[in-house]
Amino acid sequence: MAPPRFGVLALQGAFIEHIRTLQAIGVESVEVRLPEHLEGLDGLILPGGESTTMRRLIERWGLREPILDLARRGAPIFGTCAGMIALARHLDDGEEPILPLLDVTVERNAFGRQLDSFETDLVVPVLGDTPVHAVFIRAPVIARTGPGVDILARLPDRRIVAVRERNIVATAFHPELAGETRFHRLVATMASAHADPGEGAGRRPHPLRRSEGSEQR
Ligand code: GLN
Repeated sequence: MAPPRFGVLALQGAFIEHIRTLQAIGVESVEVRLPEHLEGLDGLILPGGESTTMRRLIERWGLREPILDLARRGAPIFGTCAGMIALARHLDDGEEPILPLLDVTVERNAFGRQLDSFETDLVVPVLGDTPVHAVFIRAPVIARTGPGVDILARLPDRRIVAVRERNIVATAFHPELAGETRFHRLVATMASAHADPGEGAGRRPHPLRRSEGSEQR
């Protein structure tokens, strides 16, 4: 089976580190700036950065519909930090959603000024026993998850910081800044399953393991 080819949205923000992480696990990647760069991709990463700027640039370069199309075809989309904000169907500040693909409500800049950046180790059961070293930078949190959303990780105070819904994965933190490769491996595996479905798998979205139900916080 051919290895998947990923796009990394390269309009602004921390995209280089995602390209390096994909390289480290042997996944080919392309920088996405224009709609034609999305053609033939098996997956897409939306990096951290500044979601208001990202919103403007996605609109200016006509990337919104082609990204939604890629997601509708079942290709995995992985958003980190501002990328997670971009994927949320609801934003708690009342802003319009950017790419409403993930049935969550996101609270931007949830840690305030006192604690605007920090690092911590988090257990993410789908990735195994070794904790993930998570880097949070002016990070959002997930304040509500819809019924189809799997919660992948929480902070010790129970706030939700990593989720998956079908082919969409999102983290409030930056795994790519800490040498963590397991999230990228997870979405690469999802892309392979999507690009080359096994017998009977068809083009259905990636099957999910349900860990916890939907939840209001
Ligand atoms: N606070 C930023 C925003 O609201 C996200 C920060 C990040 O991506 N590291 O867009």
